[in-house]
Amino acid sequence: MATKAAKATVSTQYDAIVVGGGHNGLVAAAYLARSGARTLVLEARPKTGGAATTEAPWPDAPEFRVTRLSYVMSLLPPTIINDLQLARHGYKIYPMGPYYQAFPEGGSIKLYADDAKRNYEEVSRWSKKDAEAMPRWDAWLAGLAEVLGPLLLTVPPNLGSRKPRDLAETLKLAWRNRGLNVRTIADVTRLMTMSIADLLDVWFESSQVKGALAVNGVIGTWAGPYEPGTAYVMAHHSIGDVGDGHLGNWGFQEGGMGAVADAIAAAARENGAEIRTGARVQEIMVKNGRAAGVVLDNGQQLTAKLVVTSLHPRTAFLDHVGRQNLPDDFVSDIEHWKTRSGVVKINLALAELPDFTADPGTSLQEHHTGSVEMAPSMPYIERAFQDAREGRPAVRPFSDGVIPTAFDKTLCPEGYHIMSLFTQWVPSDWNSQPHAEELQAYADRMIDCYNEVAPNFKSSILHRDVVGPYEMEHDYGLIGGNIFHGELSLEQLFHMRPAPGFADYRTPVPGLYYASSATHAGGGVCGIPGMQAARAAIADRKRSRRR
Ligand SMILES: Cc1cc2nc3c(=O)[nH]c(=O)nc-3n(C[C@H](O)[C@H](O)[C@H](O)COP(=O)(O)OP(=O)(O)OC[C@H]3O[C@@H](n4cnc5c(N)ncnc54)[C@H](O)[C@@H]3O)c2cc1C
Repeated sequence: MATKAAKATVSTQYDAIVVGGGHNGLVAAAYLARSGARTLVLEARPKTGGAATTEAPWPDAPEFRVTRLSYVMSLLPPTIINDLQLARHGYKIYPMGPYYQAFPEGGSIKLYADDAKRNYEEVSRWSKKDAEAMPRWDAWLAGLAEVLGPLLLTVPPNLGSRKPRDLAETLKLAWRNRGLNVRTIADVTRLMTMSIADLLDVWFESSQVKGALAVNGVIGTWAGPYEPGTAYVMAHHSIGDVGDGHLGNWGFQEGGMGAVADAIAAAARENGAEIRTGARVQEIMVKNGRAAGVVLDNGQQLTAKLVVTSLHPRTAFLDHVGRQNLPDDFVSDIEHWKTRSGVVKINLALAELPDFTADPGTSLQEHHTGSVEMAPSMPYIERAFQDAREGRPAVRPFSDGVIPTAFDKTLCPEGYHIMSLFTQWVPSDWNSQPHAEELQAYADRMIDCYNEVAPNFKSSILHRDVVGPYEMEHDYGLIGGNIFHGELSLEQLFHMRPAPGFADYRTPVPGLYYASSATHAGGGVCGIPGMQAARAAIADRKRSRRR
């Protein structure tokens, strides 16, 4: 039987083809088009954005729009915002309010990203000692961010390679970090190796404060707070800023995360890129050992000497490039890539704001404007993980909740609200079956947890949308349901992301570049993989033209 590829009839030539119209693919396309390359983006879904998407999930209530998967911005660097002039294309962030947790046993805590005095007041209600420690903790984190922040924009060197160019890059990195002293190296080592629970035990005593600070250590992670490496995950989520200079501050994009992707798409188009949706790539063509273009699932072939893929590594390499075109070591690395999360996103339309017993009232107050958490203590978070690890959905899940409509009036009619609950965990293999009924029961329990501290919560829900790992994998291409295209575990970071020897956004196939969240500085809506892959491709293109 003829293959779809063999039936291809139409052939079109581009300078560069970008596979995947998520935000990273769009960033790559914008830079490539800006460099003068005739660029085409191919996106399988009917719309661009990937995991940065705003959708109306309730057909009978299209006036309610939710930011269906990712929900807050922090990591997109000013370089990309400025290079692509994203503000002109609609990039507009409302900095979030404080972290807020109302406790089932009574009381609440607020933590501010940038207000030491109020933090002192809040924390001293739980522990004077912790209130004293908080400014030192903030300063410690800021010191680490000075080291780690620039690394986000560093192309990882090919450690261990003896090629002169690789050795030079490694030495350059060492030279740039020559200012580090014994203490800083020790702090970075601790951060990279400790669990968030152990790290916080060093600094704080009250379970309320530790629970509050632990959340960032387990977001999107298949690991409880007692697992080594979760301290780094906390740092990954704490070193960005939304462009206003406040470290670790997060913000809401007006119009939801889809509007971030739309702004990048507009910049790409303005630079001359063509974007096709509903165009599913089935194969990346490799001819004479080089990338040569792609084949769509309708059989159409599109040729380009330069291909950038921004898909999950399993799809990009094992499905699209094919094992036969890749070195065995690389194939083995990608086969063993860890890609679990156990995340469930619950999007809600609310008739009124949650009325917390600890901070009463349904009119908009400060505690509605930031993270509205359900992570009251370290053992609570750990229990949720252990449930899932033992093979059942968490009985009492933890949640990083936000109400973007505290600021953003574009998502729903006046007087109503959208609430987004980023929750964990369900078993890591729920990506292979829909588990529809169990997901609804899980969502019920999550809502009950909030209802214990805000008794109007359940009755205020008009519509709900529950997105589990199966839908994330099958509808959005997030294999294994991992929110970052791959876990942020230590052996998958920096020069190991996505595979040793290929962390410089190049791949074993000349002419093929890799721009997904599974490369360094991903995950998150940071655009860095897209920018770096485009830079590598543009540099190689110039070099080959000179030759
Ligand atoms: C529930 C959830 C919550 C999150 N919360 C946050 C958050 O608040 N803040 C944050 O910074 N990050 C968050 N993240 C992570 C962040 O959204 C991702 O890391 C990031 O969006 C990934 O971008 P990407 O462009 O690398 O990949 P993707 O967004 O996955 O884009 C890849 C694109 O390729 C397309 N595609 C797949 N297969 C094909 C094919 N065969 N042919 C053509 N196209 C194809 C997909 O449809 C998709 O559009 C969250 C993720 C999830 C899932």
